[in-house]
Amino acid sequence: MTSSDPETDAGPGPDFPDAEGRGAAGPGANLPALRGHNAALVLGLLRSAGEEGVSRLELAAHTGLTPQAVSKITARLRAEGLAAEAGRRASTGGKPRTVLRLVPGARHAIGLHLDRDELTAVLADLAGDAVAERRAPLAFEAAAAQVLATVEREVAALRAEAGGPPVVGAGVACPGPLDHTAGVLHRVTGAPQWDGFPLRDALAERLGLPVVLDKDTNAAALGLAQRPPDGAGSFAYLHLGTGLGAGLVLGGGLHRGPRTGAGEFGHQILQLDGPRCGCGQHGCVEALCLAAVARGDLPGAARVLGVAAANLVELLDIDRVLLGGRTVLENPDGFLTGVADVLAAQARTRGRTGTAVPVSLAVGGARAVADGAAQLVLAPLFGPGNPGLAARGHRPGAG
Ligand SMILES: [Zn+2]
Repeated sequence: MTSSDPETDAGPGPDFPDAEGRGAAGPGANLPALRGHNAALVLGLLRSAGEEGVSRLELAAHTGLTPQAVSKITARLRAEGLAAEAGRRASTGGKPRTVLRLVPGARHAIGLHLDRDELTAVLADLAGDAVAERRAPLAFEAAAAQVLATVEREVAALRAEAGGPPVVGAGVACPGPLDHTAGVLHRVTGAPQWDGFPLRDALAERLGLPVVLDKDTNAAALGLAQRPPDGAGSFAYLHLGTGLGAGLVLGGGLHRGPRTGAGEFGHQILQLDGPRCGCGQHGCVEALCLAAVARGDLPGAARVLGVAAANLVELLDIDRVLLGGRTVLENPDGFLTGVADVLAAQARTRGRTGTAVPVSLAVGGARAVADGAAQLVLAPLFGPGNPGLAARGHRPGAG
């Protein structure tokens, strides 16, 4: 993974646009290319070290790079304004070490959550923290041109409000199914007119930015996976809003499947002769759950969600279940209790008393998907699946 080859190490880092926007991939590009894998690793460690910072020697120890190579990379990151000195720290038996930290405000990324009736747009810094947010009504099931115009208007307003540094790109999260790699929507339940629409490229052209498209559930799960140590291990993010889906993080990495087909959690069939679902089948979890919500039977909805979650736990042996989405957030305690009860009953059935898979609310609340959408652009800049210092049980400065 890492290399000590000086030519590789001295190479340019992630392709961040500079203040004039140079270096950004053109509209329609998938992402700013990672020109330097090792620079991305260094950036990832700087990010996870936070305000406390990390020394060059620690960076070398954790990347396997030579101190000389680390110095070249950090010099370039400082020249681009991405890293700065964070003071000096006494070290055992040696001279004080200069520590470096990420400059989170050096660049921004846009995260867009296209829900069926609302657009949430955030401007996030390099640490993934939102520095500005806008919400606007959106008719996702209306004509594409109308949706694109709303997104363009809101992004322009967001950037005008926030001003500030260059934007590296926009992550767009919307209901699936869709093809993340091609950036094309498929037959979205309730909005079949999007089938085959190249939303990523259309938005890249409108916004003049690189755009990454993914399902709302995947974006949220990716965002949650960036928070070590919570991001370590395996979890399912279950999103119950106007629909029901899942984002799966397995072994620390987001699992999309080769066709972005993973996580179609809402359309597993629980009742063969059940009510018709918007997808055309009968007895899907989504149909059963939303029907229970519609008739005011929240314990029933929570129980259906719990049974489906228990199936997922049985199938994937995940470490925990996270709940989110508007319908859950309207009654978080009811859903948490209902799902936990089913998981506990399942654990007892399997003879695992006291070891039920824990369930909790996903952090981020109503903004979890938009925050995660920004991570579609940000996360790759910090190394593939970068676990960070904290996830390794190491705190810089502790030794
Ligand atoms: Zn269905």
